[in-house]
Amino acid sequence: MSDIPEALLDSKKTFEKIADILYLQAPISNGTIFFIAILFLFVFANYSDSVLHFVWSSAMIIAAMYRLFLWYQRKNTPDKQTVYYWINHYIFASVIVGFVWGSVFFLPYVNHDIVLYGILLMVFFGVTASAISILSISLSAFFGYTLPIMGCFFIAIYSLNNPAYFYLIIAAIAYYLMLSLFARNNNKQILHSISLQFENEALIKQLQQEVTQRESLIKARTKQLEQSHQQLLDSESRLQNVIIGAELGYWDWNYQAGDYEVNNRWLEILGLSRDDIHNNISDWDSRIHPEDKQRIIAIIEDAIKNHKPFVADFRMKHKGGNWLWIQGAGSLIESDSSTHEPVRLCGTHQDISCRKNMEKELEYIAKHDYLTGLYNRIELERNFEKELSRTRRYQRSLSVFMIDIDHFKQVNDTYGHLIGDQILKKYADFLQEIIRTTDFVARYGGEEFVVILPETSLKEAEELAERLRIKTSELNIVFKERTFNITISLGIATYPEHGQSYDAIIECADSAMYRAKQGGRNCVCTAQ
Ligand code: GH3
Ligand code: MG
Ligand code: MG
Repeated sequence: MSDIPEALLDSKKTFEKIADILYLQAPISNGTIFFIAILFLFVFANYSDSVLHFVWSSAMIIAAMYRLFLWYQRKNTPDKQTVYYWINHYIFASVIVGFVWGSVFFLPYVNHDIVLYGILLMVFFGVTASAISILSISLSAFFGYTLPIMGCFFIAIYSLNNPAYFYLIIAAIAYYLMLSLFARNNNKQILHSISLQFENEALIKQLQQEVTQRESLIKARTKQLEQSHQQLLDSESRLQNVIIGAELGYWDWNYQAGDYEVNNRWLEILGLSRDDIHNNISDWDSRIHPEDKQRIIAIIEDAIKNHKPFVADFRMKHKGGNWLWIQGAGSLIESDSSTHEPVRLCGTHQDISCRKNMEKELEYIAKHDYLTGLYNRIELERNFEKELSRTRRYQRSLSVFMIDIDHFKQVNDTYGHLIGDQILKKYADFLQEIIRTTDFVARYGGEEFVVILPETSLKEAEELAERLRIKTSELNIVFKERTFNITISLGIATYPEHGQSYDAIIECADSAMYRAKQGGRNCVCTAQ
């Protein structure tokens, strides 16, 4: 037992393994002993002292039965006793068997017969050699079994008065030494195997634990991946629904390769089919309105440079040839990690033509008079300020006409408001035509109009006003096959002579016009 590697000494498991091996062959070896002992009863039956033979065989049978009993007990109730109990009892049983075995040398017919001694000794060594594979697991069991036999042999042969005993003793000692060495080496080997087996078992257990851990980790990870995959699918389908619901065209631009991929809605917006496009960015480029191209390219380049999303309105050509207003939005979504060069941009197209048209219409309404189509008072003031500041900067003159149609109430009263409206409209058209391109005409009130004349001195303005008055009085306004004639009263005010601001100049022009009314109408007056 002292040869057990230190690591195994404390281990109860080691003793359990030793006990297992010791008891493994017990039914075969003890069954054989049991059987041989009975046979010996018959073999020795004819000898004179059969009682002693009977006692010896019986002792062998009892010893074998005891060991079989131990084996049987351990097999059925291994936990009833401790492992040390089983090993100690095995050793004890081995000592008993050893003594019984050894006592054969004292039987009367053996006594004094050196040949029989030799034969029995060989049988003993043969049996021991065959049992060594098991006994060597416990050196205590080995010596417990063999020492009594050897002791009995030496005592018995010593008492033999035969000179050959010396040689037999030498042979027995040599043989016994050999068996002891075998047992010792075997013991080492077996214990080493046990320790390896334990190591392997521990490793296998560790590996199994790791495998189990990894399996559960893989399971958890797989579950996580499945969940994220599902979430991705959900969000992708939500995104698709949003894109479809919002009627957005989607584009995906590989910046480096120049490839450009679009969805069906993108094509639909421009009335195109898949065959109409070349999946190249130059294709997109060629469809943009020339006036918008530089602006939109600059916006995109800026968004790429600053890594920020962009939104821009631009016009694109519909397959039918008309221009559509598109709102493009997008951003850089991938850059080369080493060169930081842009790799991929994605975004949307939205047809905003309706909105743009509406915006234009609103802008027109906000700036124009709904009846005559001339600029309204808000736009008049805005333009006046613009022109005034320019005039101030270049120290030039600017003149203003305040025009009021004479006796217009009578027109309404005589022909009705509808005709009055038509006359106002036609006169507005006339004013638009007659003024210079640099001049600006607005409807100031009911039948009152204001003309801004940039770069026009008072003198020039008076000449122009007079010409306008005459042309108005000569104007034949034809409506529903009837001709209408009107006259106007016109007041002139000039910057810087009559005022420095919009209000001041308008007021002066208005007063001048009032004086023209007082002067008999169809008349031009200059501010004072
Ligand atoms: P005068 O200026 O010569 O003193 O006479 P008037 O009759 O033109 O003067 P007043 O300012 O009293 O009347 C202006 C008229 O212009 C009153 C209104 O019926 C008419 N008027 C103003 N706006 C409109 C319009 O949008 N449509 C029509 N049909 N008539 C308008
Ligand atoms: Mg009037
Ligand atoms: Mg008036």
